[in-house]
Amino acid sequence: MSGTLYICSTPIGNMEDITLRALRVFKEVDLIAAEDTRTAKKLLNHYEINTPVTSYHEHNEKNKAPKIIELLLEGRNIALISEAGTPGISDPGYELIREAVNHGIKITVIPGPSALISGLVVSGLPMDRFAFEGFLPRKRSQRRQILENLKNEPRTLIFYESPHRLEETLEDMKEIFNDRRAVLARELTKIYEEILRGNLGELLAAVREKGARGEYVLVVEGAKEQDQTGEIEEWQFLGVKEHVKLLVKKGYTKAEAVKEAARLRGLPKGDVYKYVTEDELNEENSN
Ligand code: SAM
Repeated sequence: MSGTLYICSTPIGNMEDITLRALRVFKEVDLIAAEDTRTAKKLLNHYEINTPVTSYHEHNEKNKAPKIIELLLEGRNIALISEAGTPGISDPGYELIREAVNHGIKITVIPGPSALISGLVVSGLPMDRFAFEGFLPRKRSQRRQILENLKNEPRTLIFYESPHRLEETLEDMKEIFNDRRAVLARELTKIYEEILRGNLGELLAAVREKGARGEYVLVVEGAKEQDQTGEIEEWQFLGVKEHVKLLVKKGYTKAEAVKEAARLRGLPKGDVYKYVTEDELNEENSN
């Protein structure tokens, strides 16, 4: 019987962000396939784990994946880790996972940190729907083309970016997306963790002034409805209360209508709710 491939998340900066299950699996498996053996050993030494480690990175992925598959088919259990966060997410892993699927090998996940989810949840931007874009291309023309294609995307957008290209990327975004809200989540879970909220212009000014250092997740508000169609919608002529009433008339429940009106207007749900309940109280009082 073949062994199991464990896809394991590891810390994105804080050594304590490792699950008890991951530590147990690291002890129990025959081998740990790691993107960076030095980072892996640092983590394993910290928790006094002596399991052998082999390298599995961007440059040997194609040759190494078949060897790891062979070991799995022989019955070895193997844990896959990347340098930080979740393997396969802007990191090596896909090749091995796809081949394991093709060979009918059992795969299981040990969930944990990923910078994209951490950046999204601290951003304060809508997180009910989002699109992860990873790293944008280094070449400006290609980067701008992707941003143009994303211009009308209503979901919150999440990017990884290196400090060397952050300023250029923010410049392109400001030009193509206009000045929407965005958040720079820097050095998450580390000593110099910093969350910078503003619009794209403000973030660009801050990066120009202070420079960029460390690791960044960039979260950008999605396009508003009117940006997508270029047309003015009926609700844009209405106040908040009338907007909610219109949605209820269209078949939304009251709770759904409040949520949708908040999303379309870019307002906190609580604020919209307040308008509606105030309105109802006034109606009750006048009856
Ligand atoms: N596999 C990782 C994950 O699940 O998040 C991502 C690996 S990718 C090569 C590295 C990029 O993730 C960095 O350039 C940065 O954009 C982001 N990142 C990783 N750690 C971070 C942190 N502590 N704070 C902010 N961004 C981070």
